[in-house]
Amino acid sequence: MAGEVFSNLITSVNPKVMNSGSRGGCKIDRIILHHNATTNKDVAMNTWLVGGAAGTSAHYEITPTEIIGCVGEQYAAWHAGGTGPADPPKISNPNYRSIGIENVNSTGAPSWSLDPRTITNCARLVADICKRYGIPCDRQHVLGHNEVTATACPGGMNVNEVVRLAQTYMANSGASNPKIVKSKYSQYSTASIQDNGKYTKAPAGLGVQAHMSGKGWRKWVGSGELAGSTGKSTTLEAVIVTINGDLKAVEGAIHVASKGWISCAGTFGTTGQKLQIEAIKLKLAKKYDQGKTDIVYRVHQSSIGWSAWVKNGQQAGITGKTKGIEAIQVKLIDRK
Ligand SMILES: [Zn+2]
Repeated sequence: MAGEVFSNLITSVNPKVMNSGSRGGCKIDRIILHHNATTNKDVAMNTWLVGGAAGTSAHYEITPTEIIGCVGEQYAAWHAGGTGPADPPKISNPNYRSIGIENVNSTGAPSWSLDPRTITNCARLVADICKRYGIPCDRQHVLGHNEVTATACPGGMNVNEVVRLAQTYMANSGASNPKIVKSKYSQYSTASIQDNGKYTKAPAGLGVQAHMSGKGWRKWVGSGELAGSTGKSTTLEAVIVTINGDLKAVEGAIHVASKGWISCAGTFGTTGQKLQIEAIKLKLAKKYDQGKTDIVYRVHQSSIGWSAWVKNGQQAGITGKTKGIEAIQVKLIDRK
């Protein structure tokens, strides 16, 4: 993808790199509406930055006068995943299949009101997204956050009103083309945030970076080096695998207990959702796989130990035992 996909309606793009990931092959068929639970849009958006404690994000931020692009629509943002096993989402794969729209409040608790202009901007955006993706503009496909997981979000927003308004915009305007803007993702592909809050470049050749539960993103490691840790009961929530910083170099899938196998490219896993990876499959993308190189890898699971070395899309890790991967080693080996 040459750039990030946003609605033509955006008034600006927030240049900061926010949490996002692969949609894992899911088609976009839902729009989920949120309120910021703050009257300060910057406070809201700053919680979505890569490396932040919350691990959340959204595609758009709406104010009375702005529609701000935050995470490109082609990526999943983390806005409606629930808070764990006690709060299972009411629809499958909510983040992977939806576009999340956050709206700034005009008042705080307990009413958490929204300015009528914010509602109007939100409805215009909903109409545009529905048109572009062919999503029916109705209450089955446009949902409040609390219709997906247990939450007080979207506060004082009347989702029925947003949908009603959006339907009038649907009727009165033609389909728009999306706006493609220079990608923040390419920055993300070669730079990932470390614990000290600074971006570092992916190394030349193979780069592997682990996101450890409770610890965040760790240092990049290279071919054959250990990403993660063993014997510390700290599991991996996500792993980034790059070649010369290219996030599209390695594809495959991860197995997550509550979700099964999820296809991935570049970024394997999620952050901020407390989902541990039980098993992983890695293979080189077409342009790197010219029959000359194997991608070889193994994983460490607590009380199971190291898996065998496997290669080129084979499964590493044992599923069904609620044992997350604690560490991974990946290497590229030239075939003789
Ligand atoms: Zn929400």
